[in-house]
Amino acid sequence: MVMFDMLIKNGKVVFPDKVQTTNIGVKDGRIVAIGAELAGADSVIDAAGQYVFPGMIDVHVHFSDPGRDYWEGFCTGSQMMAAGGVTTFFDMPLNGIPSTVNKEALYLKSDRGKAESYTDFALWGGLVPGNEEDLAELAEEGVIGFKAFLSTTGNKEFENVDDITLLNGMKIIAGLGKVLALHSESGPITDWLAARKIEAGHVTADDYLETRPVAAEAEAVQRALYYAEVTGCPLHFVHISSHEAITKIEEAKKKGMDVTVETCPHYLLFNHEALRGYGPVAKCAPPLRKQDEQEKLIKLLIDQKFDMISSDHSPCTSDLKDSAVYNIFQAWGGISGGQFSFLSMMELALKYEIPFEQIANITALNPAERFGLKAKGKIAEGYDADFILVSTDEPFTVSEDNFFAKNKISLYIGHTFPCRINSTINRGKLLFHDGRIQAAGPEGEWIKPVQQIEIKS
Ligand code: ZN
Repeated sequence: MVMFDMLIKNGKVVFPDKVQTTNIGVKDGRIVAIGAELAGADSVIDAAGQYVFPGMIDVHVHFSDPGRDYWEGFCTGSQMMAAGGVTTFFDMPLNGIPSTVNKEALYLKSDRGKAESYTDFALWGGLVPGNEEDLAELAEEGVIGFKAFLSTTGNKEFENVDDITLLNGMKIIAGLGKVLALHSESGPITDWLAARKIEAGHVTADDYLETRPVAAEAEAVQRALYYAEVTGCPLHFVHISSHEAITKIEEAKKKGMDVTVETCPHYLLFNHEALRGYGPVAKCAPPLRKQDEQEKLIKLLIDQKFDMISSDHSPCTSDLKDSAVYNIFQAWGGISGGQFSFLSMMELALKYEIPFEQIANITALNPAERFGLKAKGKIAEGYDADFILVSTDEPFTVSEDNFFAKNKISLYIGHTFPCRINSTINRGKLLFHDGRIQAAGPEGEWIKPVQQIEIKS
């Protein structure tokens, strides 16, 4: 008798608190049974020898669609995510045109996503000077949260917030029961340092690093935490790159503040030597840190001080990273690595013996719980059938041929991971298998959050 649409057999299944060899039965896109004695399915996947993780939820990508979809877009971008084990991504409100700062822009973007995305997705709204009155409507229409910049964005369609906009925005967002995500680097410190370097004609990789010191990150984090204390706004710190910032965030958590933090794999796998050696392809903000800071970040990862891992996948066309044309200050910043976040975490897990449950929690469970995705984040009955099938006994070397991004420029090209992704499944559909996209077409859904936090008056 056929009981299931799909049966995943004999995989080493990564649950939130254990790894166990078992079978998973899927029906209508959901996990309906887990156990040793399952049989009877339209399609059977033999996962013997492989680990079965919950699909990754990447809370931080920039697909620039609509408006700049020659950088990336929902179609190629989501296929790239699927190849990397991501079954849900959250698209940031900037780098597309228009920015997602009002309801009209949100619907322009969600229409693109619904038509073109192969995986499920959620959408961030922006907090920028002048859009305070749009925040309530954006929340009502289903944004996952709001994003603002404390440093200068370099993007005229999405300006950083001044302090008064930040305070007003935090008060409103707290009242809406949402989370504010912050790019936390001090605008005054980074702008002032950069202006002096550029004026003096000092534009090397070392100069760039010196203009974005740990102090700039720590100052912005500290200020935001004080503002959150005053306004009651829940915060999520994106791409944190220093031990000092984590110390401040830990203090706030101990006080009972509603704060979470992510870092990105590039701060853990690479350091400033990559910027020195490869130039603009390794440029990001905050910058890749020196080796001693990188080592501290790895220790913080092992000690579970990061709530989640995101790619901050930030693509562009190759001309914008051309070091023959642009110096390191002028070149576009951003690491294109959305396909490699999960593999990076597996590499670190294997190298430092981090339990796989811990990897599943920072790549799936914690983001689902923080942002109100009630059917996602873990392998359990009733949850969405989102899975990654991974082998840990076979390496994977990144090349232009197996990198699914629209523009094949990435710091990861040439990197060899000690593991590989064999299959990615989203709501019971096989999206990626055998090195190829298997889905017939884009069937990703726009996922809206359930209420994330208690609303404070
Ligand atoms: Zn970003």
